[in-house]
Amino acid sequence: MSDIFENVIYKSNELLKNHTTMRVGGPAKYIFMPKNADEIKKVIEFCNSENEKYIIIGNGSNIIFSDEGFDGAVIKIFNMMKEFSVENDLIKADAGCLLSKLANAARDNSLTGMEFAAGIPGTLGGAVVMNAGAYGKEMKDIIEYVDVLSTDGKLTRYKCEEMKFGYRKSIIDKNKIVISAGIRLKKGDKSEIEAKMLELKEKRTSKQPLEYPSSGSTFKRPEGMFAGKLIEDAGLKGYRVGGAMVSEKHAGFVINYDNATAEDILNLIEDVRNTVNNKFGVLLEPEVKIIR
Ligand SMILES: Cc1cc2nc3c(=O)[nH]c(=O)nc-3n(C[C@H](O)[C@H](O)[C@H](O)COP(=O)(O)OP(=O)(O)OC[C@H]3O[C@@H](n4cnc5c(N)ncnc54)[C@H](O)[C@@H]3O)c2cc1C
Repeated sequence: MSDIFENVIYKSNELLKNHTTMRVGGPAKYIFMPKNADEIKKVIEFCNSENEKYIIIGNGSNIIFSDEGFDGAVIKIFNMMKEFSVENDLIKADAGCLLSKLANAARDNSLTGMEFAAGIPGTLGGAVVMNAGAYGKEMKDIIEYVDVLSTDGKLTRYKCEEMKFGYRKSIIDKNKIVISAGIRLKKGDKSEIEAKMLELKEKRTSKQPLEYPSSGSTFKRPEGMFAGKLIEDAGLKGYRVGGAMVSEKHAGFVINYDNATAEDILNLIEDVRNTVNNKFGVLLEPEVKIIR
């Protein structure tokens, strides 16, 4: 048996509801919390040798696990991997850094360009994978490079244009792991940056149901339309399955209203897709990653 359990921080039979912002999900056989690329490599070697499947997560803010959980290893790149430095207008950061922390560091150093990301509750790694964006800006506008570990153990630096960023997607698939990235910003005025961040925060709080657990926007924006508007027009605001509900504040958000199970959430997502498809002929594609 590998000495992985002596070297890397881990938990066995840990409920994934404790590691996702939707607050649903059954147990993972293991959840590993590596400190660096080397430890990630070792966990993957262990999984390969023991025939365990594995998955990477960050803050779990765009991922839903089933009530059965995950019969394998969840590798959580989060607060054991969160070093960063600010060098002139470049922030070099580990994948586990929260975007909010990096946006605050940018502000403190009078660097502009990252204000849009301050309210996205994900890690830098998850945001790079998803090309997360808000208010007309996306990660691709600020990423200079990304250091990627492939599952065969090779570390490669990708330039922004090599990342093939698109709408909520990038080149990162399940054989690639974001280790760190460089964020290129511009010198700006600290009080203007602060004011912009506050303005966007107020927008979010007034429009989004942040008082309930969720995974943010449940569906991708269909070309030329808004998922939330279609769902609202289909009469689904407030629609419930068990403890899951279509938010009354913002129909684009499925929320864990009252101790929902993953099954409640997933059934509600299917009902919403079917109803919108029947009414408007548009099949909504989930933005949130569903792991069964
Ligand atoms: C209230 C709320 C508001 C939100 N607002 C926005 C918004 O405005 N804009 C937006 O784009 N998103 C938004 N989101 C969704 C989410 O925060 C983003 O998609 C975020 O980038 C996900 O980061 P994460 O660390 O939580 O990733 P996770 O949810 O943990 O993972 C997402 C995907 O990335 C993979 N992954 C994570 N880390 C790594 C890594 N280091 N290497 C390789 N793969 C990895 C996972 O396997 C998974 O496929 C919101 C979510 C919530 C709950």
